[in-house]
Formats: sequence, structure tokens, C-alpha cells
Amino acid sequence: GAISDLVESRLRDVADFPKPGVVFKDITPLLGDPAAFGEVVRALAARHTESGSRLDSVAGVEARGFIIGAALAHELGVGFVPVRKAGKLPGETVQRTYDLEYGSATIEVHADAVEPGERVLLVDDVLATGGTAIAAWDLLDDCGAEVVEFATVVELAFLGGREAMGARPVHSLHVVG
Ligand code: 5GP
Repeated sequence: GAISDLVESRLRDVADFPKPGVVFKDITPLLGDPAAFGEVVRALAARHTESGSRLDSVAGVEARGFIIGAALAHELGVGFVPVRKAGKLPGETVQRTYDLEYGSATIEVHADAVEPGERVLLVDDVLATGGTAIAAWDLLDDCGAEVVEFATVVELAFLGGREAMGARPVHSLHVVG
């Protein structure tokens, strides 16, 4: 579709980042183009404004999920919940630790970031293996939120993130592979 083509045209492939053999999908050309950035944010918002079901907040994963997520929250007229790497948030937090290819990572949110039953849209720039999105989803769930969907600009389908997400709904604007 048009939005998928637009996203593709504003991605840059960077070879061997962050390590040899990986082709990193760089979204900075998209962010730097105000028309394209606006189209992407409106496309992510549209299905929620059109669905008629209540949405209370947008949660975004550090760091690129903050950029997309904050713009999306503003577009939808709801608040933004930052999901951060451990040690960055000043207040009392709830954490989740998940496995990486080498080692593990811990993410957290403020313990009072969401109300019980709050309907949250979770956002990031890229879905790869799904490890980050699953951890963020389950963390918000631990806090009593009802996560309605994981929305992402780019899905790297060859890494199997959508399958790893299981029953958690995934919406992506552009699928690679
Ligand atoms: P996963 O946990 O799904 O394997 O990786 C997703 C996380 O890593 C996201 O937070 C995303 O920002 C980052 N990520 C992984 N691969 C890429 C990539 O090719 N491009 C960008 N922009 N982010 C990536």
C-alpha cells in the first residue's frame, strides 16, 4: 500500500550495524521528513480513532519508541508512558528482564504509570525478534493495563517477531522480508 511504500522510501539500510552481518533499518530519514513523519503518525493513529473503542494512553519503548510514541500520543490526544532501560526513571518502578542474543536487558515503568484497566497502545519503531515488545507488553500487563495492540513502523518478518508475540495483536505499517 501507499503508506508501506512511503515508509520503505524513507528507510536507510546500514550494513554491519550494530555488529557485522546485521543490516540495520535506520528510520532517521523518515523522522527528518515532516510530511512522511506526519503520514506515519496519522496512519498509526487512524485505526484507533476509527475503531471507536476507548484508548487511554500510548506507551513507547526507549529510545526510538519515544519519538514515534510521543507524536502518536499527541495525535490521539492521550498521555504518554515511557518504558525505559533500567535505572533511568526517578520514581518507584516495576521491571521485566528479557533475554538478548548475548545476555539480558531490563526495562521498567513507573509503578503508578497506568491505572488498573487503562487501555494502552504500545509502540516502537521496529519489531525484530519481538523480545522487547513482549517484555514491554507483559510489564504493562503486570501494572494492570489492558494493552490493546503493539504498533510498529517496520516489521522485520524474517526474525519471527509476530509469531513470538503469540496472541498479542501486532500492527505494522511496513513489512520487510
Ligand atoms: P527485538 O527485541 O524485537 O529483537 O528488537 C526490537 C528493538 O530493537 C526495538 O526497540 C528496535 O528499536 C530495535 N531494533 C532492532 N533492530 C532494529 C533495526 O534494524 N532498526 C531499528 N531502527 N531498530 C531496531
